Amino acid sequence: MHVLVIGGAGYIGSHVVKNLLKNNFQVSVFDNLSTGKKINFFDKADYIIGDILNKEELDAAMARNVDAVILLAAKKAVGESMETPELYAQNNICGTVNVLNSMCKHNVKKLVFSSSAAVYGSPVYLPVDEKHPLNPISFYGFTKYDMEKYFEWYDQLKGIKFVSLRYFNAVGYDENGDVRGLEDNPQNLLPIVMEAANGTRSGLKIFGNDYDTRDGTCIRDYIHVSDLATAHTKALSYLNTSSESQILNLGTATGITVLEMIKKTEELTGKKISYEFAPRRAGDPAVITASAQKARDILGWKATHSDLNNIILSTWNVYKE
Ligand code: UDP
Repeated sequence: MHVLVIGGAGYIGSHVVKNLLKNNFQVSVFDNLSTGKKINFFDKADYIIGDILNKEELDAAMARNVDAVILLAAKKAVGESMETPELYAQNNICGTVNVLNSMCKHNVKKLVFSSSAAVYGSPVYLPVDEKHPLNPISFYGFTKYDMEKYFEWYDQLKGIKFVSLRYFNAVGYDENGDVRGLEDNPQNLLPIVMEAANGTRSGLKIFGNDYDTRDGTCIRDYIHVSDLATAHTKALSYLNTSSESQILNLGTATGITVLEMIKKTEELTGKKISYEFAPRRAGDPAVITASAQKARDILGWKATHSDLNNIILSTWNVYKE
């Protein structure tokens, strides 16, 4: 099976590519290298440098006898999406529509998509399952919500079958050190904590310490990228044997506060991490954790790399250098 991995040189994408290659898929990667990195390239995959906003480049990639698409290319910072929604509308919404239309043109009928817990907004119950109301409170979350609606229509009208994977908080690095690209100017918590630990930055701001949680800071469900990667491979296998599209949460149902993440990182790395409390960040729910029962039932997927020690140590392994 030949898979076109769009955004396959990025942080999550390169872990997905590694897992696909390990499972003997033929892999072509399409990436504009805006955040993707050549250091994340694998010898056994083909790389096409191109942009989902450029329809000709996308069509040329899709014309290479592609059996399925994994779409990861997107802007992904909640805070930034609230300040510059136009970037998110363009890259996430217009870019995804281009991918869908190119799939139609080249008769590609299988899609695995990186969606997000941000589609839920502030949970009304925990852990959140896929039946939970969708009420995104960030523009980023809205773009993912919107894209899933497009998939449902393209499924109905054009027969594109999809598995939309709603990631909770993606963290960690490949335990064998096969993915080593660091994100430039990261916006997510753990890479920022790591940069504070290795001295790249002097410290970090904790956005809000007055939430109704055990220590006042936000609670998230952190899931290791290697676990996310496995789910993509399983989703492709699922699409090979089933004609029903699926939307699945990927998480652990375990919640960690921002302060707990910092303290555990200090403990495991032996580094002091400076932080200060800052106002809440727009678009942040206080707590969100996932029920991944459906992914377990449908894909036979379960997180096996996501204990906190492994998350922090595998990340420190690349950041300490
Ligand atoms: N966060 C923080 N300081 C930072 C970055 C993130 O306090 O510099 C908090 C953020 O407010 C949220 C949690 O860490 O409560 C996880 O944020 P992240 O951006 O990693 O993921 P999100 O949950 O927004 O997808």
